[in-house]
Amino acid sequence: MKVCLQTYGCQMNKLDSALVSSALTDAGFSLTQSVKEADVILINTCSVREHAEQRVISQLGHLKHIKKNKPNLVVAVIGCMAQRLGNKLLEHEAVNIVCGPTQIPQIADLLKQALEKNEKRLAVTEKILQKTSESQNQTLETFESTYGVEDKQIPSQAFVRAMRGCNNFCTYCIVPYVRGPEVCRPPEVIIEQIKKLASEGIKQVTLLGQTVNSYKYKKDGRSWCLADLLDAAAGVEGIEWLRFVTSYPSEEFFDDIMQVMAASPKVCNYLHLPAQSGSDKILRAMNRHYTAAWYLELLDKARAIVPDIAIAGDFIVGFPGETEEDFQATVDLLKKARYRNSFIFKYSPRPGTTADKKLQDTVPADIKQKRIATLLEVQEEMSGQLSRDYLGKQVKVLVEGLSKKSHINTAGDNNPQLVGRTDTDYIVVFNGPASLTGHFAKVKITKTSPLTLFAELL
Ligand code: SF4
Repeated sequence: MKVCLQTYGCQMNKLDSALVSSALTDAGFSLTQSVKEADVILINTCSVREHAEQRVISQLGHLKHIKKNKPNLVVAVIGCMAQRLGNKLLEHEAVNIVCGPTQIPQIADLLKQALEKNEKRLAVTEKILQKTSESQNQTLETFESTYGVEDKQIPSQAFVRAMRGCNNFCTYCIVPYVRGPEVCRPPEVIIEQIKKLASEGIKQVTLLGQTVNSYKYKKDGRSWCLADLLDAAAGVEGIEWLRFVTSYPSEEFFDDIMQVMAASPKVCNYLHLPAQSGSDKILRAMNRHYTAAWYLELLDKARAIVPDIAIAGDFIVGFPGETEEDFQATVDLLKKARYRNSFIFKYSPRPGTTADKKLQDTVPADIKQKRIATLLEVQEEMSGQLSRDYLGKQVKVLVEGLSKKSHINTAGDNNPQLVGRTDTDYIVVFNGPASLTGHFAKVKITKTSPLTLFAELL
């Protein structure tokens, strides 16, 4: 039986999809990219923004038509939207299976049953805000450590989950309502997984968590934090670069994490630290537990310990009640933070969150759009300045593969254009043999743009 797996959303979802693909292959299914050829369409969904959900709904509409001519086609929805909408989603004419993130170990069995009996099946967590039971955790652990997680698209890179869920309840965010409370994975299981990946040729591992810097685990009288985990992972032979995303601005363990970054050449000098707003009033309304001034001090501290650290930010514009003055405070913070890049989004109310229940989406769409454009402009100016510092420098990059313009040959040789990344997460484009894909290369930066560096291979 052939399965076409489509993935929306963040790195967590991509990791779940990698696990599911591996589990399905193990259970005798084969994977296909073609909807036409597939016996099963499996959609891994995201609920973080309305737009991501709308894309899935329109895809389901399309599948409803396909099913008219192919009534045995099984459509399964997994991931955050499955947990959020549950039965409502199951009522959709096209859908056979709705399976939440905690239930993905059951997916192969659910698909087999649906293919045999053509019944609708729902597998979600009823009380998602309650602590996950020990047996559920154990099932997820076994699933996670049994199946391969290497990134199929980028050779020699892999993502490893350090923790699931989130306890923070930022008022705009759906994550705690679909992924449940924070659960940290045992350190020895994570390290074992990294060792296995290294033995398979993986060179870069990214540890994942919604607030990965709050990772903590107690075992045999020893307490582990993310710094300990990075330190232990750095000891794994074959692993050359380690990254972690995403961090929440918090003092807890911050110095330890920065110290291990400064001390270990394997821990990449890159920190993704979402601020979301520069207005203290809006930060309070978002239930973010810091002020803009305190956040900027935290960045100073990071730069004092790791001088060449590259920092990336996240912002939401047009949060309920955001005035022009609040927005200017965000512009101000963005200028002072000197981010290498920022991910900027318009506020979109998510049903069930505190902001949706208690606050009105007061900022008009055109103002949100204007504010995004302003922030992007300020960020572009800053990114341009910071990337110019690389001009003439020699840097090490991990080569990801052919660039989108691989046919363009500017160097006058026969090599295609490749794309790689620095440890500070800059994209670097240069000409070189395709066989470098998945390997490290040394390049010299010859030209810069705000988000991309151009180089020649040394
Ligand atoms: S820290 Fe806040 S924004 Fe991040 S996942 Fe948790 S609730 Fe959502």
